[in-house]
Amino acid sequence: MNRNRELPNASFVRGALPISCVMCQQGAKMVLLVTGKCAHDCWYCPLSLEKKGRDVTYADELLVKSDEDVIFEAKAIGARGTGITGGDPLLVADRTAHYIRLLKDEFGARHNIHIYTATPDAEKIGKLADAGLNEIRFHPHPDTWISPDPEYGNAIRAALDCGLRAGIEIPAIPDHVDHMRYLARTMYDAGAEFINLNELEFSESNWQQLMEKGFEVRDDVTSAVLGSEEAALRLVEELENDMIIHYCSSSFKDATQLRNRLMRRAKNTATGLEIITDEATFLKGVVETDEPEKFVRELRRKFAIPAGLIRHDVRKSRVEIAAWVLEELASEISGVKYLVWEYPTADRLEVERQPL
Ligand code: SF4
Repeated sequence: MNRNRELPNASFVRGALPISCVMCQQGAKMVLLVTGKCAHDCWYCPLSLEKKGRDVTYADELLVKSDEDVIFEAKAIGARGTGITGGDPLLVADRTAHYIRLLKDEFGARHNIHIYTATPDAEKIGKLADAGLNEIRFHPHPDTWISPDPEYGNAIRAALDCGLRAGIEIPAIPDHVDHMRYLARTMYDAGAEFINLNELEFSESNWQQLMEKGFEVRDDVTSAVLGSEEAALRLVEELENDMIIHYCSSSFKDATQLRNRLMRRAKNTATGLEIITDEATFLKGVVETDEPEKFVRELRRKFAIPAGLIRHDVRKSRVEIAAWVLEELASEISGVKYLVWEYPTADRLEVERQPL
């Protein structure tokens, strides 16, 4: 009997966890969103409003303007692989193939690349396989789960013929267990090697549709939908034992995958000025002043602060100083002063600030 193996944060797997998921869990997979455009309109689509429907490319949180940006971000997190997502990457298959080649050329054949797509197009899949793709995950539209489009079966067989690993990935929807079971069995018969179930989550872009369908948040500390985990557990019980099924909880994504990726990026990008906290944020001191560049020169001269512990942050037009230096000198420095906790991401999202 093939039993469920528990993973952190209530996630679980039955059978061998796909290698892409192992790397993702370690925070070692870059998320490359190649376009925000998609031909589908799933009512639960969680894509953020700044990306949804827009033909933009992001490497993790970095807006991509050149190939160098993609390589930079992959190095910044010490990526061992990349998950290509959208929107739908097959809508821009040439661009997707270009990035696959770029990453394989830079990091070698061992850089594991998987994509998610809702497009069952054998010709495009062949093109991506030629570029070096390792794995493909199909996401059929939810209206079709109970009567799956045979094109997905054909696409899975085409992917397997090209040497790709192929599976399906869908959210676990509380009142859709019959639909999920039917899709899973049909895709398994077509050769799908695994089923990835994501806990259904509220997001800024889907909350209204989810509320209208009567879904509720599971608790106060998460955006997960009540009953999604139970739907996944029920599906696993009902499906045949030889099917590999992985359930990925919303808190696993945040507490394990994201935290690990942030910690990797923090360690790879910290200068001597930032302190890396246990929560994978950067802690540093900030002074807001009218002429930050001149202010840096004056402070360095007056207090003999080493160059690596103070800088003019041009992007945010402010002075950044090592937190311990600012705490020591706060009473002798003018301007608006505070400690700040930021994510070590390209967008440097501020989490908290404490005035000094
Ligand atoms: S296929 Fe994916 S990106 Fe497209 S609408 Fe559905 S959930 Fe959103």
